[in-house]
Amino acid sequence: MAAPGPAVGIDLGTTYSCVGVFQHGKVEIIANDQGNRTTPSFVAFTDTERLTGDAAKNQVAMNPTNTVFDAKRLIGKKFDDADVQSDMKLWSFTVVKDGKKPKFQVECKGETKKFFAEEISSMVLTKMKETAEAYLGKEVSKAVITVPSDFNDSQRQATKDAGVISGLQVLRIINEPTAAAIAYGLDKKVGQERNVLIFDLGGGTFNVSVLTIEEGIFEVKSTAGNPHLGGEDFDNKMVEHFISEFQRKHKKDIQTNKRAVRRLRTACERAKRTLSSSAQASIEIDSLYEGIDFYTSLTRARFEELCGALFRQTQDPVTRALRDADFDKSKIHEVVLVGGSSRIPKVQKILQDMFSGRELNKSINPDEAVAYGAAVQAAILSGDKSDEVQDLLLIDVTHHSLGIETAGGVMTNIIDRNTVIEARRERTFTTYSDNQPAVLIQVFEGERAMTADNNILGKFELSGIRPAPRGVPQIDVIFDIDANGILKVSAQDKSTGKQNKITVTNDKGRLSKEEIERLISEAEKNKDEDEAQKQRIGAKNALESYAYNMKSTMEDDKIKEKVSEEDRNTVIEKCAEAVDWLDKNQTAEKDEFEYHQKELEKVCQPIITKLYQVGGAQKGECLVVCQEECPVVVCPVVVCQEGFQVQVELVVLQRANPVVADQLSKKWTKFIDQQCQDG
Ligand code: AMP
Repeated sequence: MAAPGPAVGIDLGTTYSCVGVFQHGKVEIIANDQGNRTTPSFVAFTDTERLTGDAAKNQVAMNPTNTVFDAKRLIGKKFDDADVQSDMKLWSFTVVKDGKKPKFQVECKGETKKFFAEEISSMVLTKMKETAEAYLGKEVSKAVITVPSDFNDSQRQATKDAGVISGLQVLRIINEPTAAAIAYGLDKKVGQERNVLIFDLGGGTFNVSVLTIEEGIFEVKSTAGNPHLGGEDFDNKMVEHFISEFQRKHKKDIQTNKRAVRRLRTACERAKRTLSSSAQASIEIDSLYEGIDFYTSLTRARFEELCGALFRQTQDPVTRALRDADFDKSKIHEVVLVGGSSRIPKVQKILQDMFSGRELNKSINPDEAVAYGAAVQAAILSGDKSDEVQDLLLIDVTHHSLGIETAGGVMTNIIDRNTVIEARRERTFTTYSDNQPAVLIQVFEGERAMTADNNILGKFELSGIRPAPRGVPQIDVIFDIDANGILKVSAQDKSTGKQNKITVTNDKGRLSKEEIERLISEAEKNKDEDEAQKQRIGAKNALESYAYNMKSTMEDDKIKEKVSEEDRNTVIEKCAEAVDWLDKNQTAEKDEFEYHQKELEKVCQPIITKLYQVGGAQKGECLVVCQEECPVVVCPVVVCQEGFQVQVELVVLQRANPVVADQLSKKWTKFIDQQCQDG
């Protein structure tokens, strides 16, 4: 690929992802190959290929067990985690235990394969990278990736690893609501100080941040959230509701059929979106289970009743964030809505009531705001000097308190929650028994007084302490948290200078360096395989289109009179043979498809050339033949009329690839224009 492109911002969402780039003084959100500005965070495996994004989501009902999503709900977590265990019950795909970590298990090209959440996320990131590359026409190798603000250390690390596996240099991991605040701040060109509450309710996570924005400085005052609350939970409630309705009506349990449950879930998500703008939504699924059609409806009121308790769970983090920021509600100038699920009217009503009926700010696109902010941050970090971004400064905070376990299982904080990052804190500890030769440093995150109630992030031992009475040795413990929110811990015995340190990795089951390297090379291999597969499908489609287009050309009334009966029959017969061969050899190799196309061309091309030869045209016509060797046969027909008027008509005989066809049409139009001007 050509020169390296700019750094991009990627919102790696639970259900949808979005990519943006800052260039020419503004952010552009990039549409994917389907023209969509957000891409489903879905990866599917079939007998022949791997699909990502829209292509994967579109076939989920046909292939529910091998279509995976929600990798963000697994990333950086252990298999035994309570959330993982409860989520697993709802997924149509299988999650298995590998060591301590969960893995997605699928059937791919006739083999059983297992993937870490980091790998699946890396496939989604690769899709976003390719989307940006297709738009920019340049290689994209650097990105800022967003995560929920309450992602813990191992989830951040794992997200960064996913970036590395996809071949991206991750410039920074930033918090989603902070990124959304940048979008708001840039959009509004905030001058004087404004206190903003970002309410971000997405597909799988809920985040609240309180920020102060003044003259380009974005200072996060507090963050709070629920890592397990979002649109998918509302979908689940609807699914449960309709499963019992089906049971009541038909005395049958559809849960035994994964495909039926998946189809129901897709219909529920659609109905949920409808209910954000209508009072009622219908669900119509033909032959849902054992041939029984399921036609039903749901009112907005019933939906609100079903999800009421979940909606109300958004209140607590809002209150907590305000309290931590030490802000009264009246001090908040703007409440900004972000995330697809913030469109739900009842969610908005609950929030509005908390702020005494204040109008909520819906000015930024809730699906794109996070990627927008990430793109701005990517530009800043890669040294963009545009007026729009050069004075922007992001001051973010830690979401959890971080500390170590001291005698009796007590959590001793070293970095408090909502401390501005980057941060470095040092504290001195000592031994608790005489002649203690070593200390075990156990690192935890969380807000509870006892470590047993918090999350362990990792542990290491500092040994070789000189024999001394308890309380005498001095051990410095240093916590260093970088701009990504990633923690490094070190400990040093002051008397010996002996040191030990870790980047907190172990206990939550991060991938080892070797594993990451292995996954990078596998991703490369997969990329090559995907490319080969793409070319195989391209060759197959090219042959199919060529055969059908040739056949329909011969059947065209205008053409009929210009070709002999014999030639026509030859072409039609050969095309039918090719189609017949294709039907029987769908899984043939690229070379075989190409060979059959060449054979067919040998028969068709001379006849077509004869047809379009210059001079072979009727009076008043001048026909030009495309001699170019390209996957699309474009025959520009120049129709010269009386006087100097020239009309150009392009007959695209084979539309294997509409983009190429379009480019060629433009090229030929230009060429013919030139020819005509030159006389
Ligand atoms: P995000 O992660 O921000 O892209 O949000 C995706 C979630 O928003 C999914 O669960 C969607 O079903 C949900 N969503 C998108 N549009 C709407 C809408 N109009 N009403 C309700 N939920 C929506």
